[in-house]
Amino acid sequence: MGNLRLVAQLALTRHDAPFGGQRAFFTLKTMAQQDRLKSLPDVAFCEEKKGLINEFIAANHVLWTLQSQQTRAIINDDLDFMRFDDLIHLAREKKEQVKYALIAHLEAHHC
Ligand SMILES: [Zn+2]
Repeated sequence: MGNLRLVAQLALTRHDAPFGGQRAFFTLKTMAQQDRLKSLPDVAFCEEKKGLINEFIAANHVLWTLQSQQTRAIINDDLDFMRFDDLIHLAREKKEQVKYALIAHLEAHHC
């Protein structure tokens, strides 16, 4: 899943400052296996971050679906393939909007 990997890398990048990349990943993985309530700082399971990541994945999926439909239309000699352009534009805007909201949240919250 390209999208998930991207999000994971994004999250990892934000954790570079406090922990260092590989160690942050290891720490998160290890902590996930333990009792969350006992062992994790609240910030490691920020609900807002989780929501933004889910929104980003959903927005990316919409964009990917529209681009796939347009590609299929072109392959099938559908001359009206440009009908997808506005939708693709809107979907890309939405994805960017969510991405920057996520980045802003991570910078402000250090989660
Ligand atoms: Zn947060």
